[in-house]
Amino acid sequence: TVTAVQANFYQVRLDDPLDWGSEDLESTNSLLCTRRALLKKLGQSVMVGDRVQVEDPDWTGGRGAISAVLTRQTMLARPPVANATQIFLVFSLAQPEIDPLQLTRFLLTAQQTRMQIGVGLSKADLVPEAVQRDWCDRLQQWGYRAIALSLVNEQGLGEVQEQLQGQLTVLSGPSGVGKSSLINHLIPHLNLRTGLVSQRWHQGRHTTRHTELFNLPQGGLLADTPGFNQPDLPIHPGDLAQLFPEIQRQLNHQSCHFNDCQHLQEPGCVLDKGWERYDHYVQLLEEITAQYDPSLHSG
Ligand code: GDP
Repeated sequence: TVTAVQANFYQVRLDDPLDWGSEDLESTNSLLCTRRALLKKLGQSVMVGDRVQVEDPDWTGGRGAISAVLTRQTMLARPPVANATQIFLVFSLAQPEIDPLQLTRFLLTAQQTRMQIGVGLSKADLVPEAVQRDWCDRLQQWGYRAIALSLVNEQGLGEVQEQLQGQLTVLSGPSGVGKSSLINHLIPHLNLRTGLVSQRWHQGRHTTRHTELFNLPQGGLLADTPGFNQPDLPIHPGDLAQLFPEIQRQLNHQSCHFNDCQHLQEPGCVLDKGWERYDHYVQLLEEITAQYDPSLHSG
């Protein structure tokens, strides 16, 4: 598994990454690899998270060459991470307060990746418990389990670690909600880390923006760069309904008269419209229909 990419070098871990524990931080079970010329010729990129085949390992020098990249299960462009299994969305209960429509936009973008979704409501120390409970209940109605958390009084952090166990997670959310603080908390040695990788690599780290995967003490992997902090919605209008768990739940055991029903005022629409985010659905459907350019999607 590729855990870091810098210029033409790839750090590759040889054991099962989701079994990693914190004691492995200094592990030598890792090689600094180049990419075989053939892969370059084929235009095959190598991303953090990729499962790869390594040839000609030089165990004493800690070097090797990547000769093949296995099929990716998922792929994110921002940050460039292959095979992530989970998006953990962070929104803060205060400073800044949650904007429900913005939260819906993030949730839709996360739903589109088809990864598992977790939600963390940060800065819980800044609001009364009733406000935390209210938001968790609302999210539950929307179809998501939310964890109220705080780095100030360490609330909810055990639950967050549980949520990250066994997953390759990318954090996402608007700026200022505490994503970087959470990453630094979860990866204790992030700034102190030393390892196999050369000094030159670490110098590069501060000049070139790149993503690295870190193993969490309780198991699981976390990307050190947050993802899509400003989601756009390149969604086909006909696909929007599928991204709302509230609609999915209802259409699991019944269907509308028309196949292409948009759940507005159509005759034979079976959707009950008495749920909180129905207004978000209508507003966003209007927005993406206005922006939708069928010529970009033909063929
Ligand atoms: P990012 O933009 O999402 O990466 O957010 P940062 O990690 O930079 O945090 C933004 C601000 O929120 C900083 O001033 C943090 O100190 C503060 N912050 C982060 N977590 C908490 C928390 O749990 N409680 C409080 N009160 N402030 C927090």
